[in-house]
Amino acid sequence: MATPLLRVEQLSKAFGGVLAVSEVSFELGAGELLAMIGPNGAGKSTCFNMLNGQLAPDSGRVVFDGRDLIGRRPREIWRMGVGRTFQIAATFGSMTVLENVQTALLSRERRVFSLLSRARDQMRDEALALLDRVGMAEQADRACSVLAYGDVKRVELAMALANRPRLLLMDEPTAGMAPKERNELMALTRDLVAERRLSVLFTEHSMDVVFAYADRIIVLARGQLIAEGDAESVRADARVQEVYFGSGRTFERSEA
Ligand code: ADP
Ligand code: MG
Repeated sequence: MATPLLRVEQLSKAFGGVLAVSEVSFELGAGELLAMIGPNGAGKSTCFNMLNGQLAPDSGRVVFDGRDLIGRRPREIWRMGVGRTFQIAATFGSMTVLENVQTALLSRERRVFSLLSRARDQMRDEALALLDRVGMAEQADRACSVLAYGDVKRVELAMALANRPRLLLMDEPTAGMAPKERNELMALTRDLVAERRLSVLFTEHSMDVVFAYADRIIVLARGQLIAEGDAESVRADARVQEVYFGSGRTFERSEA
């Protein structure tokens, strides 16, 4: 890898006696789609929360584009170009699809959404372009509360893109989706990665999805990074096999 966009060094976090993340180090290149996998409780979400500033690590470093992220607030990290897809609550159900994306655009411009604001109209074209990109332009005027689950996820992606992130953190973006929706969302993500030279770190339970879409895979187990590589080498890794078979899971079967 040339200069990595993100460098994680010896990151650790304990909760009481539980070492949730233990000296985890990895890098993420520009334009790379990196999957983080591991059984439930492996420390994936804890890792994500330290990357976006929600959680302070006990030790370790996170360097994004040459700048230290540790100690910065989530909002500041977001402004630096580290986006994340939010859970459903982040879209305002009573607002339309278009209004949600306009709100995200205004937030980037540090302006407040107002029904009377001229900025609202100015942002309209850009919002529609983003919605078009994620396949949601036709539903722009519908309330988010009436959307199908997979469509909400697309709106959330458009909202994350509104900030023009260079790195997007997606913790279980396809949770609760049917296989067809999962594949569509990941195919879209992969296209966006290529188009915008976006870097993405994502977690995902379905091994089919991980192996089909990730450029590279890192594997966590009990807080530790136990393997790293392409689909083939990770699949063949003895420690990875042990972790998955040992917990009754296989690569052939997706978890709910
Ligand atoms: P994953 O996302 O891989 O399923 P998590 O990062 O959520 O794993 O959890 C890793 C470990 O840390 C688990 O043992 C979990 O119970 C524990 N943990 C996570 N968050 C907290 C918290 N806020 N307080 C106490 N323990 C936590
Ligand atoms: Mg998790």
